[in-house]
Amino acid sequence: MVDTTSPHVNDTSGENNNDPSIAFMRPRILLTGLRRSGKTSIQRVIFTKMQPSQTQFLESTPQLVTNHFSCGSFINFQVQELPGQLHVFPSSQSSSVTGETNEQSSSYDDDASHMLGNGYDMERLLKRCHAVVYIIDAQDDYSESIARLNMIIQLGCTVNPKIRYEVFIHKVDQLSEEAKSDTQRDIHNQVRDRFTDTGNELDHWPSTPFSSNTNSRGVLINFHLTSIYDHSIFEAFSKVIQKLLPQFGHLEYLLNYLLTASNIEQAFLFDIQTKISIATDSSPTDMQMYELCCDMIDLLINMSEIYGQPNGNDGDEIENDVDYDPTNGQEMNGIHSAAEDLYQNSSRAIDQQCYSETTDEPAFNVFDSMSSSVIKLTGGRALYLKEINHHLALICVLREEALAKQAIIDYNVKQLKDSILKL
Ligand code: GDP
Repeated sequence: MVDTTSPHVNDTSGENNNDPSIAFMRPRILLTGLRRSGKTSIQRVIFTKMQPSQTQFLESTPQLVTNHFSCGSFINFQVQELPGQLHVFPSSQSSSVTGETNEQSSSYDDDASHMLGNGYDMERLLKRCHAVVYIIDAQDDYSESIARLNMIIQLGCTVNPKIRYEVFIHKVDQLSEEAKSDTQRDIHNQVRDRFTDTGNELDHWPSTPFSSNTNSRGVLINFHLTSIYDHSIFEAFSKVIQKLLPQFGHLEYLLNYLLTASNIEQAFLFDIQTKISIATDSSPTDMQMYELCCDMIDLLINMSEIYGQPNGNDGDEIENDVDYDPTNGQEMNGIHSAAEDLYQNSSRAIDQQCYSETTDEPAFNVFDSMSSSVIKLTGGRALYLKEINHHLALICVLREEALAKQAIIDYNVKQLKDSILKL
């Protein structure tokens, strides 16, 4: 479960990898955005349980950092954090991006060419990644940030048309509901306009509420309003991960089946440590219920830590022994860090720090096959939680009346669990 940092790990989805299935098992996410947009904070809050307020003391990331997240469940992916103020486009790319868009070059493209030679081979990064998560600070002037996003999309279309772009309109906690939707619309339009300017056809995009859009050239861009001060960041990241999970379709099918067989309204499969929902049924997610499910996980773990018995699983526990210090969040669990130069043979060689992280915590000592919980909510609904494996919990939202047949639910959940474990 704990991935040790090694060139092998870093090669899993590289061009030299001979086994495409391994590459697919570890999707690569390129996390980028301007300096101070919140890239590091997002990772710390989700993966190391750092308190949002403590992120104020984080230092800016000066270089490309690769984080491997491996929790032993389905979540097994790599995040490359690229500080936006540093990223550049290689000179060779200046010409390859051109073609139909060349005539439309703007001041932003000029900016990029001034930075050539600083080191980051953006083309290579884009070729190797499966999704770009782009963070825009909604509290700041975001015009420069959007210009960079547009450049990335433009380049991505050329070198790797399959990439998904997940735009996090971040730090929206300070914005009113009206400002949120204005900002989202404005950003959406600016991305669209830029592409229209350069000859790409995004005219089919709707100009009002949007969360996901595919243009006529098949570019997939999703917009999410996020903040580390509420659950929106977990929900948005869950969506990113879900789309990259090869098992997602199958899991969704299983959860849909459970819903119909057990009179359940909604079902989530959570990674309990990160609170990333790796799968849901196909009905639209009720954000309020999602938040309650996250709280239920915290409640269960806290109660179990006080009253529960450490489970006797020795294999994983020993392997995942951690000394996470939640007070600073900098000491991440089981990190093995090493500076590596992945681009040694490149003329644009850069130093990359490569971390291997796991988010395993003592919580796993008390989360075992006996873990389950039912909470009745006001308003006639209830939450039902059941352990699936050491890392995963199923949480169902259902009407309280449905609990009258809890034996049937228990049986169906057991079948679901077996199917998931077979996956
Ligand atoms: P990075 O340079 O992109 O890695 O940015 P950091 O993660 O260092 O964050 C920069 C600042 O933004 C820090 O002071 C964070 O506390 C703050 N920040 C990050 N996310 C949020 C958010 O969702 N809301 C607010 N209000 N501040 C945030």
